Amino acid sequence: MKTQTVPAYAKLNLTLDILGKRDDGYHELRMVMQTVSLCDDVTVTLTDGTGVACRVAGAELPCDERNLAVKAANAFCEALGYHGGIDITLTKRIPSEAGMAGGSADAAAVLRALRDLIAPTLMDERLEEIGARVGSDVPFCVRGGTQLAEGRGERLTALRNAPRLYAAVCKPDFPVSTPALFQRSDRVALTDRPDTAALLAALEAGDAAALCASVKNVFEQVLPDEQRARIEDIKRALLVHGAECAAMTGSGSAVFGLFREEDVCRTVCEALRSAELQTFCTIFV
Ligand code: ATP
Repeated sequence: MKTQTVPAYAKLNLTLDILGKRDDGYHELRMVMQTVSLCDDVTVTLTDGTGVACRVAGAELPCDERNLAVKAANAFCEALGYHGGIDITLTKRIPSEAGMAGGSADAAAVLRALRDLIAPTLMDERLEEIGARVGSDVPFCVRGGTQLAEGRGERLTALRNAPRLYAAVCKPDFPVSTPALFQRSDRVALTDRPDTAALLAALEAGDAAALCASVKNVFEQVLPDEQRARIEDIKRALLVHGAECAAMTGSGSAVFGLFREEDVCRTVCEALRSAELQTFCTIFV
């Protein structure tokens, strides 16, 4: 049996801006996204049977078509006319409903593994196209690195790799509903917007300090009061402990602080970890 195990890396939003609502109901976004080392493990095995089977360790998740990894396998089979059986095993470490694209990362890892096993000559562009049918963040997760993501998040422009920074990721014990947050964003005037151009210039210059000065997420302004207070508390704690900047990622609820030194990042993660707050020391990849 042919089998392949690949990492499914999480992402952080260095910036997230909402430019407006489109006629098709989606929001027009502009984001700079960064892959980080925190990952799930995804094992894909080609079997003699038919259909896609999925097992998940480390999280309570559906194993049917609602799971993005299964959806990705089905999209791949449909696009390539593949009819063999596929077994998927997910070992989850990326926290759920964190704004770290955990589901999309698994979907992208399945696509990469299936390409290696079934269609090694398939171009990256084609794989990203199949990914876009599964979810807006999947093309980014297929590509990885540092990317400008526009449209719904699926339109990517490769950027110079960000300087190697460490991220202390803090996941509070409440989820944030992405659709609800988008709805709230339609009713709130977004005043404090990220300066995406400044972040792009910082990346181009390889300037870590300028990068940190431009990290911002408009979704923080949209959160309900109680959640915003919790996010602000975590950001303050990260900054007090020496983070160069702190922001929420995606639609939350994870918050990250950026550090130049791994040992400082690790110490902060240990200091802030509690029953209400999971923490992860990660590095840009
Ligand atoms: P994003 O940053 O893309 O908004 P997120 O971190 O907020 O992602 P996820 O944890 O990726 O959110 O996904 C949350 C939802 O997706 C949950 O409702 C979960 O049941 C569903 N889901 C489907 N497949 C997966 C998967 N393989 N891993 C995690 N969640 C999944």
